[in-house]
Amino acid sequence: MSNQQNAYLKAMGIDVWIERNPSNISSPETSQPEVSHHVESDAKQDEPIPTPLHKTEYAVKSEVSVNIDRLDWPALRSSVAECHDCDLSKHRTKTIFGAGNQTAALMIIGDAPSAEDELQGEPFSGQAGKLLTAMLKAMGYQRNDVYISNLVKCRASENQDPGVEEVTACAPYLVRQIKLVQPDLILVLGSVAAQLLLKSKSTLSRLRGQLHYIEDINIPVIVSFDPAYLLRSPNEKRKAWDDLQTAMKELSNIANSKNL
Ligand code: SF4
Repeated sequence: MSNQQNAYLKAMGIDVWIERNPSNISSPETSQPEVSHHVESDAKQDEPIPTPLHKTEYAVKSEVSVNIDRLDWPALRSSVAECHDCDLSKHRTKTIFGAGNQTAALMIIGDAPSAEDELQGEPFSGQAGKLLTAMLKAMGYQRNDVYISNLVKCRASENQDPGVEEVTACAPYLVRQIKLVQPDLILVLGSVAAQLLLKSKSTLSRLRGQLHYIEDINIPVIVSFDPAYLLRSPNEKRKAWDDLQTAMKELSNIANSKNL
């Protein structure tokens, strides 16, 4: 690991001295998914969550039907800004569309914009955003190298996660963003985004440590912690670093296979 990466791991709040003793490190090859103490029964975990990600049409105020799946970036951004398709529009002051490199190899998807995101007009702002920037730098990326978006484009009301209805209403925008970016890998940060995108009731701990695919979207997905959660639970940062290493390895494999 380079000195620069060590510096960024320090910025993430991970003690780099631990890395001098390889026996203490969970490598992507050896790390096991954590088993949560709050897991649901296996029967429940197998039940898919009904989140249709492929609704491609919605009616705008003028009642003109718009095919979201054909919109380019400017038209997509405008459609999101004018959208009132779910109750989250009642609380927002503005929509948070997404930001970054529109042809990125790595796409980050979080749960929902925070109040700070709404103030700044960008996903993952504030302290959680600073931690995400440090995480990306540890992976060798600048923030502008990747594309960052959220499951829903409007802030949820105080301390509430977006529900299935809101995610279903907003899904076509995210699906179109994914199709426009065409990333090599998607890193999903947060349990709400992970469960709803992957249609799974498994806990985040169970979803970590393996490759997934969003239904009908042939792009590998890796799941990890929301940076806002890592700020509250710094002991989990080392597990997050394991996830980032897995993502780096997968991205490297994909890049190598493209060069063959
Ligand atoms: Fe529209 Fe999505 Fe905002 Fe709901 S969350 S109002 S679907 S942009």
